[in-house]
Amino acid sequence: MNDCIFCKIINGEIPSKTIHEDEFLKVMLDINPKTNGHLLVLPKTHYENLFDIDDNILLEIINYIRNNYNYLKERLNCEGLTIAQNNGYGQDVKHFHIHLIPRYNDDKIDLTKYEKTIDIDEIYNKLMD
Ligand code: AMP
Ligand code: ZN
Repeated sequence: MNDCIFCKIINGEIPSKTIHEDEFLKVMLDINPKTNGHLLVLPKTHYENLFDIDDNILLEIINYIRNNYNYLKERLNCEGLTIAQNNGYGQDVKHFHIHLIPRYNDDKIDLTKYEKTIDIDEIYNKLMD
């Protein structure tokens, strides 16, 4: 994809802080980190999102994350890892990527908030009807 910023990074046209690279994927620091060590894992081939990515490439990405969890925890001294992946809405870069967001006791990320006005029964019926 010639106008894709992540393809340009993969081709070496734009620099990145890459911490791992192999035949299938690249792992680099996000330029606008949510926490210390915020990483993006992306396939070298251009896929837009979770719904068009090749199954085997997705497995390579998941295996990288699973195999490197302890390494990241040790090096970054974080407590855990929050994983996020946007499809369409909220997705600025239309080249599949998974956000690895290291979590620290004192970070300001709050995934514990919830929307009190949502009617769970109504949504359940919408999904199950
Ligand atoms: P999303 O909104 O899920 O598409 O996330 C895109 C992410 O890519 C954002 O967190 C950006 O900070 C990050 N990003 C954009 N350009 C670059 C770049 N040149 N190098 C590293 N990260 C980037
Ligand atoms: Zn791309």
